[in-house]
This record gives sequence, C-alpha cells and structure tokens, in this order.
Amino acid sequence: MPAPNLSTLRGFVFDLDGCVWSGDVLNPGAAETLAALHRSGRALAFVSNNSRATGGELRERLHRLGVGVAEHVLTPLEIIGEVIRERCGLSRVLAIGAPEMSAVIARAGHELVDVKDYRAATVVAVGNDFDLSYERLTAAARAAARGAPLVTPNVDPRLPIEGGDFLPGCGSVVQAVAVAAGVRPIVVGKPEPPLFRMALARLGLTAAVTAMVGDSIPSDIRGAQAVGMPAVLYAPAGGAPAEAADVVVSSFAELARLAGVG
Ligand SMILES: [Mg+2]
Repeated sequence: MPAPNLSTLRGFVFDLDGCVWSGDVLNPGAAETLAALHRSGRALAFVSNNSRATGGELRERLHRLGVGVAEHVLTPLEIIGEVIRERCGLSRVLAIGAPEMSAVIARAGHELVDVKDYRAATVVAVGNDFDLSYERLTAAARAAARGAPLVTPNVDPRLPIEGGDFLPGCGSVVQAVAVAAGVRPIVVGKPEPPLFRMALARLGLTAAVTAMVGDSIPSDIRGAQAVGMPAVLYAPAGGAPAEAADVVVSSFAELARLAGVG
C-alpha cells in the first residue's frame, strides 16, 4: 500500500505520553505543529492510555502547557465502566489502581468491593497502582482465578517520564495479576479498538481520513491500523525502519511539512 498523503487528511489523533509530551514537558515543536494543524482546519483529538487520569484532567494539563487547541482528550477511564457493563452487566468490582479509576467505575453504576471481600467480586479491574501492595496483588489474582473477568485500562509495560526515564506501567501490574491468576485481561485502551473508535466518533470523521500519530508501534501503530486509520510513528531518536508504520517522522516539524502546514 502506498504511504498516505498526510496533506489530504482531515483529522489527526495524537498519543500523549512520549509523543506530545514526555513527563511534564512538551516535545519540541509539538505546540507549534498542533496550532498550525488547527489553523488549517484539521480536527484534532488526543488519546492516552493513562490509567490514572480523566480526559478533562489531561486537557487542562495540555492547556497549561500551551496547547490551547486540545478539546477532545480521551482516556480508558472514560469508558472502562461502560465496557464492564457491556461485557458483564452491572457488577461487583474489585478495583486495584488509582482512586480515579474506582470513582469512574462506581459512577457507571457498579458496586465496589473491598480488598478483603475479594471473593464477592464478579469483575476485577486493575490499573497502574502507585500504592500497590502484596495484599492488593493477592486479592486481585485470587478474584480473577475464581473466574471474575480481569479488565484493565491498558497493558503498556512502561510509563515514559522526562529525561528518557520511565515508571513501570499499568501492563506491569496487570500482567502480575494475570500471570498469578492464569488468565488474559480484557483491554479497554490502545491497541484495542474502543479508544480509537471513540476519538473518531467525537471528531465525526471516518478512519480513512484521520491519522493516528504516536510513539508506540504495538500500541498506537498496530491499534490504529486495525481500525483502518493511517498510522504515523513519531520516532525522535531515529532508527525506526520505514516499514514500521505508514509514515515515520523524526520531529513535529517534519510532521507539519508532510501535513502541508510547515
Ligand atoms: Mg506513547
């Protein structure tokens, strides 16, 4: 398949961690390119597999960093309660992760189960847990081993932070539970389709005219291609083979040029 012509596309969906920003710092040229795309009439959305933040929180962070064009910002937290309801009905959920994840699951109508009552759980939701303890790991693994479906915002192994460093990601925690329980998780975030489809719905665009831009081949590139979106790999360190994605760019300036706005 020939490389897509980015200058004819109508929308762009951007990954956040490691693409638009690294930790608390925007990547070079991101603000300028996003503003230029917006001025050219392109619809923009932002998706993050962040399992600790809502879209609204990340939108505020983008605005603080100078990306005023961020309107549609989506995370798995926005849809995890809905995914649980679709798959399992209203459930008793053992939630291991950020308080924000528990809050959105409760808001979706599910009942939260305490760690000590893990036997009562009909679903186990596991996100990145900065307060992970062996007790919580045990409760989640036992509930999943007893047959409660294991649901997770994402299976990213790492959470990139500034300076090229990282924190263990949601995937590191959920895999510990999955391995102990002997089950496979249901994944709400990238590379599974729900987040991509929701971003397209918010933009009112089809997959064919909307590019996904991200730094992760397994998460952003494969996930976008699976729903039919042209996929642009942001590889600032270089070294990515051209066939890794539909288009490979090493900077936001290069993306702007290819999109006809730089
Ligand atoms: Mg990323």
